[in-house]
Amino acid sequence: MELKKVFENNKKWINSKLSKDSEFFKELGKGQNPELLYIGCSDSRVTAEDLMGLGPGEVFVHRNIANMVISIDLNVMSVVNYAVDHLKVNHVVVCGHYSCGGVKAAMQSADLGILNPWLRNIRDVYRIHKAELDAIENEDEKYNRLVELNVQEQCVNLIKTASIQKAYRDRNLQVHGWVFDISSGKLIDLNIDLEEVLKNIMGIYHLD
Ligand SMILES: [Zn+2]
Repeated sequence: MELKKVFENNKKWINSKLSKDSEFFKELGKGQNPELLYIGCSDSRVTAEDLMGLGPGEVFVHRNIANMVISIDLNVMSVVNYAVDHLKVNHVVVCGHYSCGGVKAAMQSADLGILNPWLRNIRDVYRIHKAELDAIENEDEKYNRLVELNVQEQCVNLIKTASIQKAYRDRNLQVHGWVFDISSGKLIDLNIDLEEVLKNIMGIYHLD
């Protein structure tokens, strides 16, 4: 790819925005008030705003390998804290995707260096749900189910944080688990019943 093309594209993009709204960038410069925090995978095929049809200013985005919410990752924790406590988003989404290379790597026996500790969090998801996953014979189905269960566990990790617990209590902030199906383009709401998932364990994580 010619990087020159990126700057040409940028000029076209500016013109297309201004042709619809001459004040577009002036308004954008005033600040942001997104209602949604999206935590997704860094995979180049899963494009956050584009797949949701949202534009600048509408969604606060964090992406990392396999859409993980890890309590000692200062990056994701800062994003969650800023979005929830300061931007006051009312919805937090963890969006996984089928064919996720991070999830696939975590299903294999391979030393991947610096990626090992990151991917071990997905191996822990497998361990928690081993009985269900081991019962699935088809490898692709097992892989897809691990993608979904990983989304669920990252939603649970969000709920373990004080920011989310406080916002849930004070303004009924909602946590959602979604999956993007690359092969069809479809965004799927997993409709995870987080109250049910946390029924017997929430007491352990309660902070606020
Ligand atoms: Zn991925």
